[in-house]
Amino acid sequence: MTSRVALVTGGTGGIGSAICQRLCEQGHRVATNYRDEAKALAWQERMRARGCEVAIFPGDVSDPASAEQMVQAVEAALGPVEILVNNAGITRDTTFHRMRADQWHDVINTNLNSVFNVTRPVIEGMRRRGWGRVIQISSINGLKGQYGQANYAAAKAGMHGFTISLARENAGFGITVNTISPGYVATDMVMAVPEEVRAKIIADIPTGRLGKPEEIAYAVNFLVAEEAAWITGSNLDINGGHHMGW
Ligand code: NDP
Repeated sequence: MTSRVALVTGGTGGIGSAICQRLCEQGHRVATNYRDEAKALAWQERMRARGCEVAIFPGDVSDPASAEQMVQAVEAALGPVEILVNNAGITRDTTFHRMRADQWHDVINTNLNSVFNVTRPVIEGMRRRGWGRVIQISSINGLKGQYGQANYAAAKAGMHGFTISLARENAGFGITVNTISPGYVATDMVMAVPEEVRAKIIADIPTGRLGKPEEIAYAVNFLVAEEAAWITGSNLDINGGHHMGW
């Protein structure tokens, strides 16, 4: 298997950690960003203890200059980015009639504009080299909408339009571009939801449980494979049957 350079944004989070681990185990050289150095160093140690070496660089993906510097730092240390997983994300939930402008803009900047900020500095290199994998971690709620998440659902739905356009533009350059739409996965993001709301969500999932971060990482690894070269412009739903159909 070819060892590639992989940049996973938001790698220190629940799903991001599992993606980093899985890509490491496959022999890829993995990097992520951080905003809080002390927290990131402690995370890096925990990953090392699990046998996974992840290079970490400062970077706020919602800020174009910071994202570009982060990509430059990754490429200077590890080489050109060949696999990009746009995974960093936040929620600022509230019903739209109560939503403040900062709650809207924070979510759009972090979850959608970040995709421009990080992909733009890597895409030309991928085109020149004739190989690349770009994966967006969207959400079930970008497909079906969610009460209290007009900002989040708008950003996550926007990722799909980005994916299918970028996939068309780059299909002739050995680059695949895909989206993964996870359902509810047991990470800090979902554990922050009040318990009674979480119980209702679980009751609605046909498999009767939340997803595991490793189950999302498995799909990333599938799309990254050399054999996945004909899978582009697609969306992969991973949600325990919570949302089916088109
Ligand atoms: P976590 O909250 O566990 O992790 C989020 C990660 O994103 C953290 O590493 C965080 O870093 C990073 N991050 C947030 N804002 C920024 C920023 N401005 N710049 C750089 N990094 C940032 O979330 P999950 O692991 O649960 O979610 C990962 C992705 O999966 C998100 O895009 C989320 O929307 C999506 N998703 C999650 C689902 C779930 O059920 N958990 C369901 C569907 C989609 P820091 O520690 O610095 O904040």
